[in-house]
Amino acid sequence: MPKKGQIIRVKRQPQRTCVGCKQVEGKRTLIRVVRRPDGIVEVDPTGRKAGRGAYVHQSLDCIEQAIASNALSRSLKANIGEEVISELRNLASSEDSEET
Ligand SMILES: [Zn+2]
Repeated sequence: MPKKGQIIRVKRQPQRTCVGCKQVEGKRTLIRVVRRPDGIVEVDPTGRKAGRGAYVHQSLDCIEQAIASNALSRSLKANIGEEVISELRNLASSEDSEET
């Protein structure tokens, strides 16, 4: 085990793969979906919930693709509920007009 006090060499943005389009992105442009330790899957806008996470762009294209291909449920190894899907769609459509 490494001890505390070691020099951290490189500061890196956490990189995550969108389960829809498979592009690797900095974490902040992606929505996190988490499978909690109790097996419930939910959207995690804060990105801080405990559990296994999967990431998808905040874009309807990526979300629909992730759902259609089952990439999201495969990545989380859990079923994605209708509520989660509609929440993702809401998040995507609420951000559609924003320029990046
Ligand atoms: Zn994507």
